[in-house]
Amino acid sequence: AEEVGGDDKEVVKEYFNSTGFQRWRKIYGGMDDVNRVQLDIRIGHAKTVENAIKMLCDEGSLQGVTVCDAGCGTGCLSIPLAKQGAIVSASDISAAMVAEAEKLTKEELQTSRNDLSPTPMFMPKFEIKDLESLDGKYDTVVCLDVLIHYPQNKANAMIAHLASLAENRLILSFAPKTFYYDLLKRIGELFPGPSKATRAYLHAEADIERALKNVGWKIRKRGLITTQFYFAKLIEAVPA
Ligand code: SAM
Repeated sequence: AEEVGGDDKEVVKEYFNSTGFQRWRKIYGGMDDVNRVQLDIRIGHAKTVENAIKMLCDEGSLQGVTVCDAGCGTGCLSIPLAKQGAIVSASDISAAMVAEAEKLTKEELQTSRNDLSPTPMFMPKFEIKDLESLDGKYDTVVCLDVLIHYPQNKANAMIAHLASLAENRLILSFAPKTFYYDLLKRIGELFPGPSKATRAYLHAEADIERALKNVGWKIRKRGLITTQFYFAKLIEAVPA
């Protein structure tokens, strides 16, 4: 049967304000007290962020470019973007995540300023907001590792909305629904670990591509990031 996912958003919000916040803050931060799986996920996610920044910089300097970081988490992407002079609007459904991102960004930008970096930097604007209610226009919209929390029908609407906010580019990452990963996930569901508080939805690249096509966008670049426990497809879409 088709997943409706009616209350996914409330569950996700609650999770990322509580146990999920603690878990992901640890994974995304530099703390030592992570297990082997968490360390592997940290490395995989860092590669996704790095590759997203590479895609962003391919078209030239980010100085003064407006970027919307939808579902910013603890600011793993917003911080390096701000350091490169981008004008960042960062938001997340979780108030705990936004507070952490804001705190880390202030610390990091202060350190960069003390290093007398020649790049003019702007403090990102942080907001507690689900991406469905974001408005405004941005040169680029980025949404990393958020779609995994939503079934395809929800993801379609999210992609359409994000595309409507972007003037030039939309960069998305998602967990690809390939046979191998689907299998791993099913095995994972048979043996759920203690920290598995939310569902993970995989997306077929063709479905993501179709959602973009339906709103007049096409994929320009594709990348795949894999470690032992982390899988992500990274795509850059542009108006067709
Ligand atoms: N994008 C960040 C990164 O890659 O470092 C964080 C990724 S984390 C796995 C997923 C984030 O998406 C969480 O911070 C969560 O609160 C946020 N999120 C989930 N659903 C959301 C929604 N509907 N709107 C905005 N943020 C959402």
